[in-house]
Amino acid sequence: MFNERIYNFSAGPSMLPLSVLKQAQKELLNYGGSGMSVMEMSHRSSSFDSIFQNTKAHLRSLMKIPNTHEILFLQGGATTQFSMVPLNLIGPSGKADYALTGNFSAKAYEEAQKFGICTVAASSAAEHYTFIPNQASLQLDSNASYFHYCDNNTIYGTEWNYVPQTGSVPLVCDMSSNILSKPVDVGQYGLIYAGAQKNMAPAGVTVVIISKELVGHALKNTPIMLDYATHVKSDSMYNTPPCWCIYILGLVLQWLESLGGLSAMEAINREKAAILYDYLDESKLFHGTAQKEARSKMNVTFRTADQALDAQFVKEAASSGFSNLKGHRLVGGMRASIYNAMPIQGVRALIEFMAKFEKDHI
Ligand SMILES: *Cc1c(COP(=O)(O)O)cnc(C)c1O
Repeated sequence: MFNERIYNFSAGPSMLPLSVLKQAQKELLNYGGSGMSVMEMSHRSSSFDSIFQNTKAHLRSLMKIPNTHEILFLQGGATTQFSMVPLNLIGPSGKADYALTGNFSAKAYEEAQKFGICTVAASSAAEHYTFIPNQASLQLDSNASYFHYCDNNTIYGTEWNYVPQTGSVPLVCDMSSNILSKPVDVGQYGLIYAGAQKNMAPAGVTVVIISKELVGHALKNTPIMLDYATHVKSDSMYNTPPCWCIYILGLVLQWLESLGGLSAMEAINREKAAILYDYLDESKLFHGTAQKEARSKMNVTFRTADQALDAQFVKEAASSGFSNLKGHRLVGGMRASIYNAMPIQGVRALIEFMAKFEKDHI
């Protein structure tokens, strides 16, 4: 239907920067004179070893990850971290605190209950996850082994606008849908994890950034592949890592560097989100679904007052080259995911399309 690339607002897997795809295309059949594709390379080869070490080094420098923290490239998606986190971290006290601000944090909490006593430290479930609890409302247990939260709620379109302060209790954060969208003070965290397919690379690699102090305390009977210590000891090469995804992640990190790093990326993301929310706030047809202070800069959720009109909008948008705007089934309405790779022109074009649709239906 389309000969050109379209604006893809998918929540994940989502757009990758065009220059990254072109670079991968150029190197697809013969990477760096090796005579083979990265997909065909031994993960123990020197060619792949330099890809791997480069990706790691770029991630460390871009995110300013201190030497107190290890970087792991794992598989199993962010969802596997819902189990790995409690298996490895709940040990000492057998207790953990969870903030429930959306579907994924609720799933993480549900899974963790298999491994210890988990307490809801805060929840926005009663208001359909449209807000983020403030610091004062967090019910913190100073004996908890960790505090888990999800920084950006992909489905509901909300994002924490502060880092929860938990004293000496390690912070564990699911950053699957906003990692690399802004600078983060990694030293404040015990553990950060993120599936790649929102803001980093194709699905298949999961990045874990973990404080060295938290490694080596897994519960007895933890499967070897689910023990962070296994992966720290073998530098994520205990078994075959997701080589292709790690290579693409390396290209994405270099693209971010060429833009000026994470502060520059944040400024662009702020502008993209601001123009879309400004339009929504002015619109007589569309309105945003998340509370203002909690609005995500990555996933913008909105709707009209009429479900049939929502469906018509999604359909007409798709045939005009704006794909994947249908909201998640738990929320309905629309969702425009505007991750790092979505250019500001894409957001401007969407707003123009929405304004025209509004004119025709108001
Ligand atoms: C997509 C997503 C997940 C699930 O990731 P998988 O890699 O599919 O397991 C978890 N948390 C958040 C915040 C997400 O956006």
